[in-house]
Amino acid sequence: MQMRGVVMLGFLALPSAIVAQRAPKVFSHADTLRGSNGPGRSWWDAAFYDLHVSVNPADSSIRGYNAITYRVLKPATRMQIDLQHPLDVDSMVQDGSRLEFNRDSDAFFVALKAAQAAGARKTISVYYHGKPTVAKRPPWDGGFIWQRDSLGNRWVATANEGFGASAWWPNKDYLADEPDSQRIAITFPDSMIDVSNGRLRSTTHNSDGTTTYEWFVSEPINNYNVEVNAGQYAHFSDTYDGEKGKLTLDFWPLAYHLDTAKVQFQQAKPMLECFEHWFGPYPWYKDGYKLIEAPHLGMEHQSGVAYGNHYKNGYAGRDLSGTGWGMKWDFIIVHESAHEWWGNNITAKDQADMWIHESFANYAEGIYTECRDGKQAGAEYIIGSRTRIQNDQPIIAPYGVNAEGSGDMYYKGGSMLHTIRQLVDDDEKWRGILRGLQSTFWHQTVTAAQVENYMSRRAGIDLSKVFQQYLTTTKVPVLEYRTVNGTLSYRWQNVVPGFAMPVRANGQWLKPTTEWKTGLKGDSLSVDKNFYVEAKVAPPT
Ligand SMILES: [Zn+2]
Repeated sequence: MQMRGVVMLGFLALPSAIVAQRAPKVFSHADTLRGSNGPGRSWWDAAFYDLHVSVNPADSSIRGYNAITYRVLKPATRMQIDLQHPLDVDSMVQDGSRLEFNRDSDAFFVALKAAQAAGARKTISVYYHGKPTVAKRPPWDGGFIWQRDSLGNRWVATANEGFGASAWWPNKDYLADEPDSQRIAITFPDSMIDVSNGRLRSTTHNSDGTTTYEWFVSEPINNYNVEVNAGQYAHFSDTYDGEKGKLTLDFWPLAYHLDTAKVQFQQAKPMLECFEHWFGPYPWYKDGYKLIEAPHLGMEHQSGVAYGNHYKNGYAGRDLSGTGWGMKWDFIIVHESAHEWWGNNITAKDQADMWIHESFANYAEGIYTECRDGKQAGAEYIIGSRTRIQNDQPIIAPYGVNAEGSGDMYYKGGSMLHTIRQLVDDDEKWRGILRGLQSTFWHQTVTAAQVENYMSRRAGIDLSKVFQQYLTTTKVPVLEYRTVNGTLSYRWQNVVPGFAMPVRANGQWLKPTTEWKTGLKGDSLSVDKNFYVEAKVAPPT
């Protein structure tokens, strides 16, 4: 997703000293259950989620079950399944017998009766019901969304990034474990059409005045991407000849937006062309590409991007970069679709590493600008977005507690990648690194270390201190300099120990360290703006 625009502008007005005083969050036992690979989780590997949910908009309740098929990695007797309050589990069944379970905050622990032999494939069905949390400010503060469209028709959706898929269905709510495939069978009153992820396999009209839409995702999917969107939809489709052949494109606007959507959604094709060139093949040819109009701004729901940008260019009608380039394209189509590569194809194993999703998605906005309007425009977009950086707290949050780091994971992360591109100093090599990340970690979950090490290795540059500086501190590197008789001396200040990033200044490459270097002729230093650093005259000694 994208940063909350309005809230963030409020933060920008605060002096950094005040922002920095925000107390560190104290993590609870429930945070650990949710965010770590605990003993009730680590022994099993999700293989298939067979999700069936019936939605009753009249009283905002849901009821259903998830049949969880898993591979046993090592024998165990106690299994953790996540389902958030106020939803409740009715029963859990394995091999035809009901199991005992108890609740610990938003997790259920079930006592398994059958032997769980390593290598075995088992299924447990979890039946549940209740009134799921209503999203307070979707898509950021998520849950279920009970809306009406402008004609007064019911319009229902889910958005639960960060909050977690267990807000509405039982699963292992942990980013590092994705099922290999998933069925999403959603039942609504007959008057509504549900559009979820993957492909529609069947539509069944039930005798009780409801219809079941059976969607199927045939490739690994991260839980938070699984979606419900139900309303009065129209449908049109197209195909795109891409790197892996014919890709189906399906568009689901509200019926009264059909004509507008047929114009605005044309932006999907140039987006795909640009991102396939820079990042490699679209990751979900089997499941297709979809845009689905949603009653919230948007979300990167896999193979079914939720779209709520009101068919306007920019981000809710604004340009986040302040350069004008951001008004040339529809932010939600570009940013959320970029997540199909960064976030969905490559998924962070821990919420703390959401920068792997958002830094690259922000950088992809610059890349899209570059595809459209040239390299200079792309650079200006990224550089312009820097005014939104807060440097309030580190981008990487504490691990194991489902914590999210600073919103700087967007603009500062994008600027970090743009800075690394300068260090690589070879556009084709840089493109090879981006495509290499996608192909190497294809359909996988990853750690920050995997991404960082891969980039260093492919670049042939040790980038570890660069990542450490930008991702784990709030300090902007300062290139400090002084002049004596027309000779410049310079060094890095405000940096992590060992930081020695080369930088372009005064039209040439410098290799500063934290020790003074001297010998450059001139009276002042002008650093290439593509580097996210500052240059300052050293205070008199
Ligand atoms: Zn995003």
